[in-house]
Amino acid sequence: MLQTQTAPEFVTLARDHISPVLGLKSDRAFVRGEGHRLYAVDGSSYLDFVCGIATTVLGHAHPAVTAAIHRQVDKLVHINGAGYAEPTARLAAELSAALPDPFDTVFFSNAGTEVIEGAVKLARRVTGRPGVVAFRGGFHGRTLGSVALTTSNLNYRAGYEPLLPSVYHAPFPDAYHMGGDEEASGLALAALRELLVSEIPGRSVAALVLEVEQGEGGYRPAPAGFLRGVREICDEYGILWVADEIQCGYGRTGTMWGFEHGGVVPDVVCLAKGIANGLPLSALVTGRALQERWGVGAHGTTFGGNPVACAAGVAVLETIRREGLVANAAERGAQLRAGLERLQGRDERIGDVRGYGMMIGVEFVTDRDSKASDETRTSRVLERAAALGLLLLNCGTHHNVIRWIPPLNVTAAEVTEALDIFERALVEA
Ligand code: PLP
Repeated sequence: MLQTQTAPEFVTLARDHISPVLGLKSDRAFVRGEGHRLYAVDGSSYLDFVCGIATTVLGHAHPAVTAAIHRQVDKLVHINGAGYAEPTARLAAELSAALPDPFDTVFFSNAGTEVIEGAVKLARRVTGRPGVVAFRGGFHGRTLGSVALTTSNLNYRAGYEPLLPSVYHAPFPDAYHMGGDEEASGLALAALRELLVSEIPGRSVAALVLEVEQGEGGYRPAPAGFLRGVREICDEYGILWVADEIQCGYGRTGTMWGFEHGGVVPDVVCLAKGIANGLPLSALVTGRALQERWGVGAHGTTFGGNPVACAAGVAVLETIRREGLVANAAERGAQLRAGLERLQGRDERIGDVRGYGMMIGVEFVTDRDSKASDETRTSRVLERAAALGLLLLNCGTHHNVIRWIPPLNVTAAEVTEALDIFERALVEA
């Protein structure tokens, strides 16, 4: 499916004028997206399991989302500072209804990193404490506050010091490299407790920021026991638990919210990515009492809660509910996982297949004993898969994990098609 004709003009423009810092490796040029396929300039099509980095959760040009955008764009595009707009209020109410108690109050922003920064500001202001605890391998964004929490890759941090002070990192329970779920949970909880008595007193920590399943860091799910332990530790010290559900929320893990896997409820939830199926929108959600203590004017935004993005957001939530997409993610996730485990049985260099629901990581290693990362094979498999018509993305500190994040409404036939292509790519790479 590789393009054969010469690059169109906009690719030349992009090469000349889009920042090289993005490091785009491919010159694929797309003119249209429909359902779960992207269409290139030369007419070739690709099954899109990149989903704009886990964002187009309903696929491209979903009729309900497109109609909602069209309706709103003709009525009112931007209003902040003048009063309320209906889609913004409606989405806030719908998000509150979709989350457990006590979540009922929303602060909208535009990108994931903004709500992470908002959460840190809220936690510091409300608790009067400076400390923030995050986990190794975590990714929380690239602006200067969030990047201080991010350790999934040195390149995201290097050269930007000094970063936000009073940020501490504890080990994440990596079951594959730490001897299984129980062992990893025990080690990570012990290390967290140790951090709170040796590096920063627990009573000086405002927030603990955690992805239930790490995204950029390698699709590593935190075991349920670890989540329960985190809740206990936060309660013991009065720390606010900020759940970064930016990638693992919204049905992705086979439950509406990632934290449900631990049977626990955090204090602050950060959402972005799939919330508006590709329009820029993010949300910080808490119980009302917490945001009342934040203080009027302590935080703000110009674009956050944009009516068009929120209209799309309402359509996304309605579609997830109407079409039973959380259950679909669980079922198709199980199908995908079974297929990937079957391939793992035949390929010595697939070290691990893991993840909750339909957020599955496939880790490539040079051999299963050393578990040393195999970045080269990973990128070859990605290239071959793309050449065969399947777009996938990598992740992990060593870029040796392929992440599987199909749209929430993916069909059984598409999962089978993707597995067939992946199998060929594994052989050919
Ligand atoms: N948190 C997580 C878990 C993410 O995956 C991301 C983006 O990949 C972010 C935060 C930052 O979101 P954004 O890129 O929208 O700022």
